[in-house]
Amino acid sequence: MKLWRKPLDKDRVASPRGLIHIRSVWCKGCRYCVVFCPTQVLELSSDFNAKGYHYPILKDADGCVDCKLCERLCPEYSIVVTSIATAARPAARSVEASAPPEPAPSQAPAEA
Ligand code: SF4
Ligand code: SF4
Repeated sequence: MKLWRKPLDKDRVASPRGLIHIRSVWCKGCRYCVVFCPTQVLELSSDFNAKGYHYPILKDADGCVDCKLCERLCPEYSIVVTSIATAARPAARSVEASAPPEPAPSQAPAEA
């Protein structure tokens, strides 16, 4: 079941980006980070760490939105998220920019 909706301003506002650092040796494979990531960019590796647990890996490097939820949820402090600088938000459109264009001289009403 997909719980997340598309924000109304998704096409106008640049999403933040995050870089995930995973200390796989500390992981105990609880899957909190995988299950609760809002963009579902993490998955458990088929490999085992030294403790015998499957640890998370990134399946979509561009999908992290830097919410840091995985970092806060991880009971083993295995994940650190750092922010990646993204392009500035586009300026909001001004009222003048959205005003209707002036009529062409040939279409202007004749003066009395
Ligand atoms: S910071 Fe947020 S979007 Fe990025 S991997 Fe963690 S939970 Fe997912
Ligand atoms: S929340 Fe932490 S301990 Fe649990 S699977 Fe993710 S990295 Fe491993």
